[in-house]
Amino acid sequence: MQHIPALWHDPETHLARHQPDLPILYFSPRVLHQTAARFQAGFPGLVTYAVKANPHPAVLSNLVAAGIETFDVASPGEMAAVRAASPTAVMHYNNPVRSQAEVQAGIKNGVASWSVDELSELDKLAEVPRSCEIAVRFALPVSGAAYDFGSKFGAAPAEAVDLLQRVAAAGWVPSLCFHPGTQCEDPNAWVEYLGEASRICEAAGVKISRLNVGGGFAANRDGLAPNLEQAFDAIGQAARRGFGPDQPLLICEPGRAMVSESFTLAARIKGLRKGGDVVYLNDGIYGGLVDIRDMGLPGRVYVVASNGVHRSAKATPRVVFGPTCDSLDRLPDGLPLAQDAQVGDYVLMPGLGAYSSAMSTQFNGYGLSDIATVIELSGTRHG
Ligand SMILES: *Cc1c(COP(=O)(O)O)cnc(C)c1O
Repeated sequence: MQHIPALWHDPETHLARHQPDLPILYFSPRVLHQTAARFQAGFPGLVTYAVKANPHPAVLSNLVAAGIETFDVASPGEMAAVRAASPTAVMHYNNPVRSQAEVQAGIKNGVASWSVDELSELDKLAEVPRSCEIAVRFALPVSGAAYDFGSKFGAAPAEAVDLLQRVAAAGWVPSLCFHPGTQCEDPNAWVEYLGEASRICEAAGVKISRLNVGGGFAANRDGLAPNLEQAFDAIGQAARRGFGPDQPLLICEPGRAMVSESFTLAARIKGLRKGGDVVYLNDGIYGGLVDIRDMGLPGRVYVVASNGVHRSAKATPRVVFGPTCDSLDRLPDGLPLAQDAQVGDYVLMPGLGAYSSAMSTQFNGYGLSDIATVIELSGTRHG
């Protein structure tokens, strides 16, 4: 019989019972469903999910259950992960640089939409069925995101005009796409991109039926919640302004903002030195905290004793090292931790569903692998 893992009430209950000595992620499917519903209610178009942020089978199958039927994939490995979650899911293959073998894998997996940002890449797609959509990816030098994606992928607008004309002339379904950069806190980035999208279509003389506005939606940062609805409204208005009543169907493909809040990471304190100023955790930048290194903390951090009770003393800033023997394995900004934290306690970090387990290595024999399912995530219960 199929094994269905137990559902715990919250991370604290699980920690107190099992006292895990390896870092662990707590997953709340309920929170993931709520976030999916928020995107579906607010975004003025089709909501898809960028698999790379967290490709765990439980994430994909819960998104399918929440009504997400289209996935942004970047590799044959992600195609297989999506197929395992849903035999009928639609795939958009939006990694614009592909080997011939990857193109064949995309065709075999029935990819419905392909992005392209260079003529050399369009040439590789000759065998893609003409019923498919090809979305020309363009990039602008706009700011607003924590880091910009335009430096790696994306055609300049003039090249995009040329590519769009070629796509249409070859008989594919022409479309445009862009990605404003991850953790994009300024809706204006989308507004600028949408304005340029309408100019590209006009210059090319090509009518597109769909327009993919990428991911990049902000997740909580430093405990502040983003105003997703403001971004959704700005996108809807900019599309109407640029394209008029005949506007293309909008598509978004959030990764980070869809999944981040549905996971909380628990790392254990292995050692305290210098009167507690220096903390050694059992997870670090080669494990689930790589994104904290680059992006900062999503939310508040909680220290929980091994009996599940929250430490309540005032938080003080600490130097924080990960478990490996590499001296780079250190959080650049440290963490504020309750003054009464002890060795054997757990540090709970909410908002770590995106780019955590997906990027965790097994360097030095450490890394994230355990996940437990909970109803409530931490921060909702205090000792
Ligand atoms: C990474 C990526 C996304 C998701 O980005 P987030 O910042 O996590 O929302 C969406 N689309 C493409 C093409 C990507 O490469």
